[in-house]
Amino acid sequence: MRGSLRSRLTLSIATVAFVIIAIVISLSNYFINQNFQSYITKQQEATINEIVYTLGQQYNPENQTWDVEYVHTIGMYALYDGYIIKVFNDENQTVWDAEIWDMSACVQVKEDITHQMLSRFPESNGKFSDTDFSIELTGNTIGRVNVTYFGPYFYSENDFDFLSKLSSLLFLIALISLLVSILLGSQIAKRMSKPILDTISATGQISKGDYKIRIQDRSNLSEIDNLIESVNQLASSLDKQEQLKRQLTSDVAHELRTPLTTLRITLEAMMDGILEPSLERLKSSFDEVIRITNIVKDLESLAILEDGNLKLELSQVSLVDFSQQVIKKLEHQIEEKEMNISIVGTCSMIMVDAFRMTQVIINLMSNAIKYTQPKGMIRIEFSESEDEVMMKFIDNGSGIPKDELPYIFERFYRADKSRNRLTGGSGIGLTIVKSIINAHGGSIHVQSEPGHGSEFTVRLPK
Ligand code: ADP
Repeated sequence: MRGSLRSRLTLSIATVAFVIIAIVISLSNYFINQNFQSYITKQQEATINEIVYTLGQQYNPENQTWDVEYVHTIGMYALYDGYIIKVFNDENQTVWDAEIWDMSACVQVKEDITHQMLSRFPESNGKFSDTDFSIELTGNTIGRVNVTYFGPYFYSENDFDFLSKLSSLLFLIALISLLVSILLGSQIAKRMSKPILDTISATGQISKGDYKIRIQDRSNLSEIDNLIESVNQLASSLDKQEQLKRQLTSDVAHELRTPLTTLRITLEAMMDGILEPSLERLKSSFDEVIRITNIVKDLESLAILEDGNLKLELSQVSLVDFSQQVIKKLEHQIEEKEMNISIVGTCSMIMVDAFRMTQVIINLMSNAIKYTQPKGMIRIEFSESEDEVMMKFIDNGSGIPKDELPYIFERFYRADKSRNRLTGGSGIGLTIVKSIINAHGGSIHVQSEPGHGSEFTVRLPK
């Protein structure tokens, strides 16, 4: 059966409260009854003793007579209390007999008590029986009294009244406790369910695309607070991704617009006969096309790399050999800028994706060439520890301002935008490098000082 959290919680709290109240009330009822029974039994003994004693007081030893009038009063009071007495003198002659005096009252008393007791305590198996008590005065037996009463104990009208009032009181206490527990339970349930309901409504909003929403409630329950925290984090990471997505779209548009505009203007001018289609102009247009193609290629590789399912084709390679091959590939640029390149140190072969690792070295090397003035120095340093291989790309180029360092691995980020336009970078190179290294379980860090150079450290697990 489905139900709301709040009603389910309220019901559970009320059920527990009800069970506890029922147990407490039943136990107290049981103990009160038990104690009341033994109190009543003692009370009855005391009443009979009192009757026997006062009867003794009605005997005059001097003329050996009974004050029958008083005996009658005592007998009638006893009768109203449920005791039917017969008083005999020492010669066993009747002094006073309740049944002789008022048979119908005796029958009535018997019927009333039997009816009341058996209807309230059917299991008690009580019945009327009689017992003889000898009446004594100053140590001498002066007669006996035969007392008929409902045994083993019986309750008077007042006793029943007291018990029923007590039961009503207990019932009232139970009712009030139950109502209070339902009320409190519902409040507690409300307080517990509110943050959950808010979380549900927040996740609903998130699924509709409102990533700005944050749940402010706190419940003081660690599990619920953890849930709220997770949902808030989920919203903020979706928000960040959404921003990145928007940023990426606008960045891509921006990156493509500039070379496309240059191309369009040049081509239009040539078509309109304003510019002559010289080889140089065609070459420059061709360079723009290459630039656009490179950006698209970079974006493609980034998309592949950032797709979590990237499969690395691992093989044993020597990173030192790879670096030498890359230097050969970039020979043209190196010679053009008369760079001083050196490879220092060595390291053991490791399992990497050869194609992608070449891309890492090319990107880092071409950055070092791009951002270092002619005749500059570039050094690749290799070293290794027990479980990782370290590869450093050190240059004495322009360096990167400290406040820009945290961003250089982000897509399309360029430290010095105006300068970099000249260097022709798209701002994706380092993002690709970082993705490849991460896919290999490695890490990349940068240290740089503007005007003095940069140092990129790559660590790869063996
Ligand atoms: P780009 O295509 O612009 O080079 P990258 O992602 O490769 O894009 O690099 C991001 C930015 O980091 C560059 O624009 C540049 O400002 C800075 N950078 C990268 N490598 C170096 C380096 N060796 N020296 C100085 N700046 C660098």
